[in-house]
Amino acid sequence: MRIVLLGAPGSGKGTQSQRLVKRLAIPQISTGDLLRAAVARGSELGRQAKQAMDNGRLVEDALVLGMIRERLGEPDARNGFILDGFPRNLAQAHELDELLRRLGQPLDVVVQLEVDYGELVKRIAGRRTCADCGRVFNLLTSPPAGADAVCATTGAPHRLMQRPDDNEATVTERLRVYDEKTRPLIDFYRSRGLLRVINAEGEVDQVTERLTRALTAPAARALRPKRARPAARKKRKPLSRPKSKRGGVRPRRAPARKRAKSAKPKRARRAPVKRARRR
Ligand code: ADP
Repeated sequence: MRIVLLGAPGSGKGTQSQRLVKRLAIPQISTGDLLRAAVARGSELGRQAKQAMDNGRLVEDALVLGMIRERLGEPDARNGFILDGFPRNLAQAHELDELLRRLGQPLDVVVQLEVDYGELVKRIAGRRTCADCGRVFNLLTSPPAGADAVCATTGAPHRLMQRPDDNEATVTERLRVYDEKTRPLIDFYRSRGLLRVINAEGEVDQVTERLTRALTAPAARALRPKRARPAARKKRKPLSRPKSKRGGVRPRRAPARKRAKSAKPKRARRAPVKRARRR
């Protein structure tokens, strides 16, 4: 399955991706993780990306796309993948479309994780990542406990670190950038019939359940988002019908298809009436 997880910083894309990796046996591809690894390695790419990341801005498309092309070309991505944090703007979404079209591997589903703004800020403040195994925890909502208290890599308790960009000023900017650049992807994928939206608040297990249901829901449901129908109806039936020049109500026009079929006979019937008025 080829999946994109969309959602604001702190909406739980990383946490839910890690759970899907186990269930579906496909890799999580997080551009944030790939970029942080490049920064930690001190590579040229990492050096170029660091300033944008520290300021909560998007890293240049060319750098991210190069990285994604390389990653999607690796053998483990052939059976599917979970894209987490990519695409993040319309240009990246178009490039991804093109890349997957060339690979003959189009996306199956895009899931939007919806979380209230205030909740996002709280979650980011409590977020900690294990420096050794990379697992994401939250000191407030999901601290390491029970079997998860021990790091799978070291066998010792997790070494929890806070991400340098999880500070207040940077978080505000990341949320702003999300609204401006990433939110438009919701309509982009909705118009392609790929979008499913889930409520990503509440217990992590509950969200995983909703996500799993969204992934397995029949495609037809994705094509009919709940709010789309009333909006479409409103457009077709305006509340007040436009008045004609003579003050009367203009008759409602027949739907385009019917008009096209009956165009000729109608014109023929109206012609004599017009001539009679002029006299
Ligand atoms: P979050 O979703 O919590 O903001 P990520 O780990 O996805 O965190 O991203 C961290 C930072 O990495 C972003 O603020 C941005 O600077 C950079 N980044 C990640 N993915 C992309 C992308 N697809 N395009 C541009 N920049 C990205």
